[in-house]
Amino acid sequence: MRYVSTRGGIEPVTFSQAVMMGLATDGGLLLPDAFPQVDAATLQRWAGLPFKALAVEVMYPFVGEDLSRDELEALVERSYAGFTHPEVTPLVELGELRILELFHGPTAAFKDVALQFLGNLFELLLERSGGRLNILGATSGDTGSAAIYGVRGQERIDIFILHPQGRVSPIQERQMTTVLDANVHNIAITGTFDDGQRIVKELFNDLPFKQAYSLGAVNSINWARILAQVVYYFYAWGRVSGGDAAHKVTFSVPTGNFGDIFAGYVALRMGLPVERLILATNRNDILSRFVHSGVYETGEVYPTISPSMDIQISSNFERYLYYLMDQDPAKVRELMAQMGSEGKLEVPAEKLAEVHALFQAAAVSEEETRQQIRETYTETGYILDPHTAVGVHAAKGIPGAICLATAHPAKFGAAVQEAIGMEAEPPVSLQGLMEKEARCAVLAADAAVIREFMKITLAG
Ligand SMILES: *Cc1c(COP(=O)(O)O)cnc(C)c1O
Repeated sequence: MRYVSTRGGIEPVTFSQAVMMGLATDGGLLLPDAFPQVDAATLQRWAGLPFKALAVEVMYPFVGEDLSRDELEALVERSYAGFTHPEVTPLVELGELRILELFHGPTAAFKDVALQFLGNLFELLLERSGGRLNILGATSGDTGSAAIYGVRGQERIDIFILHPQGRVSPIQERQMTTVLDANVHNIAITGTFDDGQRIVKELFNDLPFKQAYSLGAVNSINWARILAQVVYYFYAWGRVSGGDAAHKVTFSVPTGNFGDIFAGYVALRMGLPVERLILATNRNDILSRFVHSGVYETGEVYPTISPSMDIQISSNFERYLYYLMDQDPAKVRELMAQMGSEGKLEVPAEKLAEVHALFQAAAVSEEETRQQIRETYTETGYILDPHTAVGVHAAKGIPGAICLATAHPAKFGAAVQEAIGMEAEPPVSLQGLMEKEARCAVLAADAAVIREFMKITLAG
């Protein structure tokens, strides 16, 4: 299998090249040149597998030329050993309501499923090449901690994560700064998340620095992150279908960067019996507006109680666009150029019909989100985190829909408290964080200052 760019400007690359490249060098996103096809007999067999064995089956065709089956098995084993639930991503059934719990990893949000895998994969590929990597990223909360936990303690990687000082929740801050491994460098910048992103962009554009220091990214455009997320769609289907290929399932996915829901689209393209994909956004509704109108246009970013979805540019959307445009890179280039110059793009009417055949979308308000947390708690005793509640609300009226639970409710205690007057019991990973020793540099929101800090840190 080879990987191509949505913009058609690179020679096809292997899986490991795609992982190390992250963003394609022509500015596009990387995708496999074909999807492995899963037939009814295979679906039947997969439905009976435990999570880790299934992960190997799902991922092997995508990596097979670069990793041996044994290597992949070892990677998967190591990546999910730190999950506290024996099923890794268990499906909880509460009457008509089905919740796929993706938050049993070390940072209590679904990003662990992908970033634990990516961290171990980086390590393996760097050992092979003898190289080193300095990961640099900016976070508004969840991604930073999941990335730090993905690579902590590794010999060939240093990680630098910028967060806006005082502007992430206390739990999120502590999740990052209490990791004391020598290769982890937390930086609180005296500025906003946007400042952090600007600095990261500036340093990645400083090509001599980027090359001399082997800068790498962990943002959600890395193909390996999508791939790891495909697994739990198959897993969830197996829990409810009895392996019967005629049994179609609808998934409801709280969405920001279109990463998680794109993984569901990949599963569908591989042959998973999917009825519909429900795309659930909060008030930051660029994606739900697109599904309704065919127009993709950024708006203002509003802070909400589901902050990990407060996004008005969805970095993975281009991947879907590529398939919608019949895998024609010229059309993708044209639309993205339009996006660049006019701040919006629009797909033709017949393409919008195709979108409607698969996706259903809803933008869920703050009040509806709190109301959903309250209602589910009253009816079932189960506590939803605000992101998950957005997805559950969007799936109302579709009995049997599987709702992806992207964070543990204790991670967003204030919103839960407001909705039901109490907080959820924290998992072990979130306990005692406030008392632990922490380490963090506080620096000016200035690219030159951050670059100097990185140089001095890496020299020492
Ligand atoms: C990142 C995140 C999301 C959004 O996922 P995307 O892949 O960006 O669509 C939803 N919920 C939580 C808790 C997250 O951390």
